[in-house]
Amino acid sequence: MKLRNIAIIAHVDHGKTTLVDRLLQQSGSFRENQRVAERVMDSNDLEKERGITILAKATSVVWKDVRINIVDTPGHADFGGEVERILSMVDSAIVLVDAAEGPMPQTKFVVGKALKIGLKPIVCINKVDRPDARVTEVVNEVFDLFAALDATDEQLDFPIIYGSAKQGWMSAEGPDGPTDQGMAPLFDLVLKYVPEPKIEEGSFRLLGTLLEANPYLGRMVTGRVFAGSIKPNQSVKVLDREGKVVEQGRVSKILAFRGIERQPIDEAEAGDIVAIAGLEKFNVADTLCTPDVVEPLQAQPIDPPTLSMTF
Ligand code: GDP
Repeated sequence: MKLRNIAIIAHVDHGKTTLVDRLLQQSGSFRENQRVAERVMDSNDLEKERGITILAKATSVVWKDVRINIVDTPGHADFGGEVERILSMVDSAIVLVDAAEGPMPQTKFVVGKALKIGLKPIVCINKVDRPDARVTEVVNEVFDLFAALDATDEQLDFPIIYGSAKQGWMSAEGPDGPTDQGMAPLFDLVLKYVPEPKIEEGSFRLLGTLLEANPYLGRMVTGRVFAGSIKPNQSVKVLDREGKVVEQGRVSKILAFRGIERQPIDEAEAGDIVAIAGLEKFNVADTLCTPDVVEPLQAQPIDPPTLSMTF
């Protein structure tokens, strides 16, 4: 199946959860009872206490026979390059901006990183139904933000989609609609604008991005397969960032994202984002690979080393 991998970047409350729910709903990958169960499972206690809605770290929807993996980007903190690693799993990002508030600090923080690693984002102006929406100004603010963050001409030429996640519609034509096409215009834009995942040559390599303790499967690491493919039971090793072997072992389970659920699969192929179980020391920023591999993967360099000129 063809794939697209995208991240969603948004300041808190700009509508990320509502948007993803709509995407799941309108692609038919969504069942009400699933959603509740998953959200309870995924939420950590602190978030439950605060009553913040939980967005799964990754979801996937199928649109016109293309699987779209959607990953969440934390906007608040960046522990050890997590945002960079998440962004290096994807080929574009939807920058979701509230039509009244405009770009906010979290938008700026993550967009800056996305632009630096060379992603060409799609801008989504959400909440155009708000009576205080100021769409034209907000689009200009987004443009100014990109420019201030040293976007390239290509990045500044971003496509814009407008809509109301709450009302369940998006339009590439403008903030006045049409409103009867639901999320189709956004799906179509993703298929058209986001490149297919680039596949590297050579043996199986996956870059660890998100770590979790799964109550049933133990330690699990989610990441993108950059090259090759992998099946359960296959022998693998884990390399740290310096290329040191951390662990040798076998993959016990491979889970792929299917809607908001994860399902075991028989094989993960290059380009896909999957969760791997069976390795006890596999950590984020490590590379999971077949035993022949010596070079670890690196998350995209964010700040290219400055060349010092010595004569
Ligand atoms: P998140 O923090 O980015 O995940 O934002 P949520 O999806 O939880 O939305 C935050 C608030 O904005 C909620 O009260 C939503 O109902 C509301 N909201 C989301 N999308 C829209 C929209 O398109 N229009 C309006 N008026 N409100 C929206």
